Amino acid sequence: MSQSNSLTGSCATQSCNSEEELVDLIAREVRNILQSEIAGPKVRAVSNSGYPLIPIGISNRHVHLTERTFHLLFGEQTEFEPLRPLYQPGEFASKHTITIVGPKMRSIPAVRILGPFRKYDQVELSLTDSIFLGVDPPVANSGSLEKAASLTLVGPHNSIHCEKCAIVANRHIHSTDEEAAMFGLKNGDFCKIRIGGEKGVVFENVLVRTNKNWELQIHLDTDDANAANIRDETLAELAGKM
Ligand SMILES: [Zn+2]
Repeated sequence: MSQSNSLTGSCATQSCNSEEELVDLIAREVRNILQSEIAGPKVRAVSNSGYPLIPIGISNRHVHLTERTFHLLFGEQTEFEPLRPLYQPGEFASKHTITIVGPKMRSIPAVRILGPFRKYDQVELSLTDSIFLGVDPPVANSGSLEKAASLTLVGPHNSIHCEKCAIVANRHIHSTDEEAAMFGLKNGDFCKIRIGGEKGVVFENVLVRTNKNWELQIHLDTDDANAANIRDETLAELAGKM
């Protein structure tokens, strides 16, 4: 059956009342097809231990902002616009970037703001970025900013000094409760993951985070990903609970 036939079939069975509903349905179907092409084979692949292999998302340096900080940096009139959706449902890369400046006046330009807005301002860096900028941020969970490092954030309209915003994000797995349970894990657990290949490694202290909307995926920063020679097709296997 071709893709267009399958769309017609779904609409016939789900009865589309309006043009808007039809557009909605098509968007949903296309998303399903795209997701099964991207994620399907990865999630279905099975490791030697019999568990599904887990896809890896590499987090380049990025920023999360409050709505207030966004408008301070970009001006009240600027609308926060998405550029492309991320793998986790509801998350997106925005069209907007800022420059971040450290205490040695060294800066990194074009650091992308991810959406939606958060309740806090947070800059996620690799340790390599941190050394370049001259800051010493802690390895922390997203949102744990008590010991975060300070940076200056520069936008096209204004700049602000952000006292506690920079962290090196800890390694973590996004999952639903059900999928985590499949691995014998629950929200808040720490586990080990193994990545094979020429520069194979075992990463420890990988935090399990669950949410009913999340897709199974491991998030590593660019330092971890590069150390393990991770490429698009690289998958990870669970190597036990900590
Ligand atoms: Zn993540």
